[in-house]
Amino acid sequence: MMLVVESLSAHYGLFGAVRDVSFEVQEGDFFGILGSNGAGKTTILRAIAGLHPPAVTGSITFRGKDLLKAPPHARAALGIGLVPEGRRMFSSLSVRESLLLGAYRRGKAWQVRNLDRVLATFPELAERLEQATGSLSGGQQQMVAFGRALMCEPSLLLLDEPSLGLAPVVVQRIFALLKELHASTGLTMILVEQNAVEAFPLLTRGAVIERGRIALDGTRAELEASPVVAQAYLGADGA
Ligand code: ATP
Repeated sequence: MMLVVESLSAHYGLFGAVRDVSFEVQEGDFFGILGSNGAGKTTILRAIAGLHPPAVTGSITFRGKDLLKAPPHARAALGIGLVPEGRRMFSSLSVRESLLLGAYRRGKAWQVRNLDRVLATFPELAERLEQATGSLSGGQQQMVAFGRALMCEPSLLLLDEPSLGLAPVVVQRIFALLKELHASTGLTMILVEQNAVEAFPLLTRGAVIERGRIALDGTRAELEASPVVAQAYLGADGA
């Protein structure tokens, strides 16, 4: 197992956002965390990436290392990359500067190697390297957010609702890019999404979160076979 989350609980002050959550992610998984608004999905990613708040109890083990003892930059150095919700861009920075931010602790050779790799993955960005990030389309900004996370050569990529605020046709493109990235690199990914219909075909395994707890987890086929998932998340009308 690459990542083992055991009895994870997470609090914002007195408010318990995540309760007793356990799941495992294998090397090469494209693992989905699905659930409605406010279910606790972002909170779980924040706990894995080491962002505060929330306050966290339980255990998270990454390749045998106890993550809860490591600060966020140490988790990045271990190979955990995060693409935050809302993309979190500095809109006045150029695309080049935004991407380099993802590897600012690294040496020049590392930066050049990874900038080349990211631009080969997202050729649309190569044509816009000197453009202000804020002037890009929403889909292109999402590519910058992916690229910035890939600059640190992650072995586990955490993606927080990349479809947020994008038009349906752009969402399909972004998800196609993620599918291609997973197929070509085998990179392990955890995708948090409300948009289960679009996300589902990408996943190898996943979990459904409801009000801070795991309602169901398993392979994509197991999740798909569940009437709860079919009705509440995939829009099946039983017809
Ligand atoms: P969404 O899809 O809307 O982003 P989510 O499943 O990612 O939802 P979280 O953002 O993890 O949900 O939030 C879980 C719960 O924790 C919600 O009730 C939310 O209001 C609460 N919460 C999140 N961040 C904070 C915070 N900084 N302070 C207090 N409560 C918070």
